[in-house]
Amino acid sequence: MKIELEAKMNRIKIKLFVLILSLLAAPVFAAEAEELVVYSARNEQLIKPLFDAYTAKTGTKIQFITDKAGPLLARLKAEGKNTPADLLITVDAGNLWQAAQEGLLAKINSKLLNKNIPAHLRDPENRWYGLSVRARTIVYSTKRVKPEELSTYEDLGRAKWKGRLCLRTSKKVYNQSLVAMMIARLGEVETEKIVRAWMANLATDVFSNDTSLIKAIAAGQCDVGIVNTYYYGRLKRKDPNIPVALFWPNQRDRGVHVNVSGAGVVKYSRNKEAAVRFLEWLSKEKAQRLFADGNMEYPANPRVKPHPEVAAWGRFKQDTINVSQAGKLQAKAVILMDRARYK
Ligand code: FE
Repeated sequence: MKIELEAKMNRIKIKLFVLILSLLAAPVFAAEAEELVVYSARNEQLIKPLFDAYTAKTGTKIQFITDKAGPLLARLKAEGKNTPADLLITVDAGNLWQAAQEGLLAKINSKLLNKNIPAHLRDPENRWYGLSVRARTIVYSTKRVKPEELSTYEDLGRAKWKGRLCLRTSKKVYNQSLVAMMIARLGEVETEKIVRAWMANLATDVFSNDTSLIKAIAAGQCDVGIVNTYYYGRLKRKDPNIPVALFWPNQRDRGVHVNVSGAGVVKYSRNKEAAVRFLEWLSKEKAQRLFADGNMEYPANPRVKPHPEVAAWGRFKQDTINVSQAGKLQAKAVILMDRARYK
């Protein structure tokens, strides 16, 4: 009798043990089946290695589509609550601001993200976070310009640069953001004076991209210009002797204009927690390296060092005004550039 009872108790214990085990294991299995859908304006070649690394580490599968920021935002808007998307990755704070403004992104509550990403590189309302920093700085001909002759973005409007300045079109969001930040720092009147002075100094029509601008300086068409450093990096990699160098302007005042590429969680995502976990991982060292190095950008997390090739361009003081200003003042910047006949 006693033995039978003991055996029965043991069977119950075993059943309980199995039940507890399966309860413990359940979330693990669920996590393994996890899947995230990303809409990305950062191109496949730059983001795919990150997705693969995350899948290898966590088992979370990542589906993605890539397109330009405009069509992706339009798509998110049209899909509304039915969107399959969990995350939006895009370049330029102007685009991230736009997405948040249109109510497409969810507020995120993450101590880790707030710790890893400096305050000026993220949305003040935590709807998006910068993940890499791109510096838009001055480039000059090493044959015709001495770095001592350079000082600020504003200075490129002075008479000594007449017929020597090359600029990219004002239609590109990068320049809209640059001018928006100047409005934030210097006011509209002063910024318009500077932009008009730039126009008076142009050596030739505006360029459709940064790469052809740098090539124009190398070819002797102009002597100075403004570009994102990674375009310079790509050309320098192909031709280490390119007669063009980078200059860090405004080091005695506000610093170099920086922008971000970054990400936010889609408002109607059905996997918000998993999406935030992925964002958090993106802010950590290994992912930060992958994210920045692939495009010769700077990691947004200041504790992560840039690639040696990028670090070789020297340290610089960056403008720490919140990059969301680029979005807020974008419309003003576009109108101002139009008034100044910046094509
Ligand atoms: Fe770019």
